[in-house]
Amino acid sequence: MSTDAAFDPDVTVSGLIDFIDASPSPFHAVEQGRRLLIEAGFVLVDEADPWPVAPGGYLIARGGSLLGWVVPANGAPHTPFRVVGAHTDSPNLRIKPRPDLVKAGWQMLAVEPYGGLLNNSWLDRDLGLSGRVAVRSGDAASGVQARLFHDRDPLLRVAQLAVHLDRGVNERGLVLNPQQHLVPLWGLGDRPSSFVAYLGEQVGAEPADILGWDVMTHDTQGAARIGRRRELIAAPRMDNLTSSYAALLALSHVTRAAGGPGAEATAAAAYRPMVVLFDHEEVGSRSERGAASPLLAAAIERTVLAAGGTREDYWRALAGTVVASADMAHATHPNYAELHEPGHHIALNGGPVLKVQTELKYATDGVGAATVRLACEQAGVPLQVFATRSDMPCGSTIGPITAGQVGVTTVDLGAPLLSMHSVRELGGAADPGMYAATLAAFLAPAQSGE
Ligand code: ZN
Repeated sequence: MSTDAAFDPDVTVSGLIDFIDASPSPFHAVEQGRRLLIEAGFVLVDEADPWPVAPGGYLIARGGSLLGWVVPANGAPHTPFRVVGAHTDSPNLRIKPRPDLVKAGWQMLAVEPYGGLLNNSWLDRDLGLSGRVAVRSGDAASGVQARLFHDRDPLLRVAQLAVHLDRGVNERGLVLNPQQHLVPLWGLGDRPSSFVAYLGEQVGAEPADILGWDVMTHDTQGAARIGRRRELIAAPRMDNLTSSYAALLALSHVTRAAGGPGAEATAAAAYRPMVVLFDHEEVGSRSERGAASPLLAAAIERTVLAAGGTREDYWRALAGTVVASADMAHATHPNYAELHEPGHHIALNGGPVLKVQTELKYATDGVGAATVRLACEQAGVPLQVFATRSDMPCGSTIGPITAGQVGVTTVDLGAPLLSMHSVRELGGAADPGMYAATLAAFLAPAQSGE
């Protein structure tokens, strides 16, 4: 078997590059995801409306989170789900509520780090701003309208101290205090430049009508293929827009392959495919739209009930449901190869990575692992396995949170990455295609006997 032509490596990478460049914030990632799914025939549903009953592909968007699912034309209400979960947020510097600062003849913006960023990587980059602004509006029932903006201009810079004033930094190592040393410069002057006035220009509103905002910085350098044979991708936010994009591509593909959203299949599908992209993974997932929220469980339950099922059918469906928590995996760094577990080296362009950790920082168990192995076999791609050294702690994902929240078998897998949480990470150009093909096979496993 070979990888499906739908997941051609070069086409997938150029799609991913466009997706990343257009998604400097979780809100923009959701907007891009919405566009991709609507192009594939999905319909946007308002969560306040009744859950759709008719066969078709649907999605809901809740701030920086998105959930897409398919209602097949046939199949019992207790049919289990195959879910791919990922996250839309990445570490960055976020603007404080009263950000206007002046110091030593400089205009600056007060910021707060979001998530576990590699502080040093934000130094001396040309930073832009993006996010969501709440604007007073007579048209909206709530009196407030949320508007997105994405300013691609290089506006800000966190300037590093010259080496001459920091003798010994190369021997001592660089220590940055987030309150003191990560404050970006955005102009010269003895009086503060009004950030609210800037926001007003960005969203076409009077400063007095700006009632709130979620605004963040991003590196303005675009994603790019690099390397001797362009076999690598250097890009911001690969953790976890790579998984978000691969999941969206996989869902659109399996829906199209089944004849379009809600098409009459010849045999009842064994699973209903679903994709959920959560906000707030980098800060613990506890929000109304994070992985610790009822977002996923509620969508599964409402889908079962809308199909004519009962609460009993909901629990029956969960018994066979599997979630793939899709997030990035640490590739072996050649300068620090000793930090990796022997026998578990991870290569860029080596294929998707199954992630295993006995203290359940990753949710994978043997049975969950089997679903990923079968998906890789079906997609015709190799599988790598990651385990940490026993003397080193390990990061986590939405996997264990989702497993505990919904109560379903969950498996952690990802694509290999270097420099995770740097402002600019490094991946392999052949991986996104193999990753998306694997997620598609996971969402729609070939039924035994086929
Ligand atoms: Zn991640």
